[in-house]
Amino acid sequence: MSRKHIVAGNWKMNKTLPETQALLASLKDKKNTGDAHVIVAPTAINLQASVTMLQDSPIQVAAQNMHQAESGAYTGEISAGMIQSIGIDTVILGHSERRAYFHESDELLAQKVNTALAHGMTVIFCFGEELEDRKNGKHFEVVESQLKNAIFHLTAAQWSNVVLAYEPVWAIGTGETASPEQAQEMHAFIRKTVSASYDEATADQVSILYGGSVKPGNAKEIFSKPDVDGGLIGGAALNADDFFAIVNAF
Ligand code: PGA
Repeated sequence: MSRKHIVAGNWKMNKTLPETQALLASLKDKKNTGDAHVIVAPTAINLQASVTMLQDSPIQVAAQNMHQAESGAYTGEISAGMIQSIGIDTVILGHSERRAYFHESDELLAQKVNTALAHGMTVIFCFGEELEDRKNGKHFEVVESQLKNAIFHLTAAQWSNVVLAYEPVWAIGTGETASPEQAQEMHAFIRKTVSASYDEATADQVSILYGGSVKPGNAKEIFSKPDVDGGLIGGAALNADDFFAIVNAF
């Protein structure tokens, strides 16, 4: 099994430039004792400074979002080419906050994914059910449709630039985590679904991250599950000690 362990910090709309620099300086001092590949995703305006600060560090920088168009009259937006021009090749797409507050649909996300991959970028594609879906026993169905509608049109070859991030909406920022068993159950389902639509090799190589209230205290158990290949971390990524305790859970 060759898939990578990844721990990615999604900073969301947090940290000014001085705060970003302070957190990155602390992160650079930390020792990665395991085999996790570490990514941080600061807010767009601080991406360039982050790339500069992490030049001599194995910590990689990702963007939190991008627009699907190449360029043009899209006030306030950022393109794939702009992100790449400052040395960033990874973008988070489909986060539940983008879906909920910025009305990003599966169809729109499919376009964003296409643009990112056409640029040779890596996409960390987020998806996950809401509490209501889980209560109604529809969580597998919802997750399958999110994947089918936004990324299952890709060729098998394109999947080498895709990382999946399963984030049950009810666990994000709520302090409520999916149990390690619930995470494993869904991750195994996701891998099986990828295998059914593509092939076993594609399913085997794709890293599937879990996100939703991952903390130093629960990371080890969640990451110990065979189909959990890492985490997408929100709140706990804003503190260097907490974030590296999670990184070192691998
Ligand atoms: P959380 O956020 O760790 O604060 O729950 C996770 C995410 O939104 O990616």
